[in-house]
Amino acid sequence: GGKLFLVPTPIGNLEDITIRAKKVLTDADYIAAEDTRTSGILLEKIGVHNHMISFHKYNSKERAPELIKLMQDGATIAEISDAGMPVISDPGYILVQECINNNIPVVPLPGPSAFATALIASGFDAQPFTYYGFLPRKAMEQKGYFEKMRDFRGTSIFYEAPHRLAKTLKTLAEVLPAERQIVAARELTKIHEEFIRGTVAEVSSYFAENVPRGEFVILISPNTEAPKQLSWPDLIKLVNDLVQKG
Ligand code: SAM
Repeated sequence: GGKLFLVPTPIGNLEDITIRAKKVLTDADYIAAEDTRTSGILLEKIGVHNHMISFHKYNSKERAPELIKLMQDGATIAEISDAGMPVISDPGYILVQECINNNIPVVPLPGPSAFATALIASGFDAQPFTYYGFLPRKAMEQKGYFEKMRDFRGTSIFYEAPHRLAKTLKTLAEVLPAERQIVAARELTKIHEEFIRGTVAEVSSYFAENVPRGEFVILISPNTEAPKQLSWPDLIKLVNDLVQKG
């Protein structure tokens, strides 16, 4: 019967395509690709020749039912995005939901994703972590997220475009304690792979001298400050208030 395969593709280094991913892409009846031109280049390089259907965030609403119909008629579809895992800050989510609603099996393949790749080399504890994807662009809205990251007792991860990095770090500096460690993971798996580690001020000054280029994952280390403790008078007042409320 029909099936949806979710197939990760490399985030830079072509050798990161898995043997199974290549097999699934070759054997599928159709490849649903976010950008058929980008994926065409990749598929050519890895030696996969197959039919592609365009499936991106602007056509997914109307395209999803068509793909569902194909799978109901027995087709297997391999869904890919431009890079890394589909669904992770990429299209695919709607199609997965529709498959579940229509009892069509969803088969995810493991493979590269930028956030997990960055996390394991960050030096920050990976349990727990929160992945935010791309943050809103307005500083005001970003601040709300940065406050959550400041307080979170785990690692926070987000994606940022190179031309917005300096401004975003400036906003981050207004919220994060000065000594808190962050990492900017750049061009993962590629020739210019680089990890810039330090406080927000240190990382910012690095990028003041080295214009941010390429792709970035930003990680914020966990909040390790001792939890705020109540004083005895505060505690007694709290208990009294609770008792009075019944
Ligand atoms: N689906 C992808 C994944 O699994 O990571 C993410 C797609 S999202 C549209 C693209 C963003 O992911 C980039 O702007 C960048 O923040 C991050 N990214 C992708 N590849 C990267 C790489 N090689 N190094 C660092 N960040 C990367």
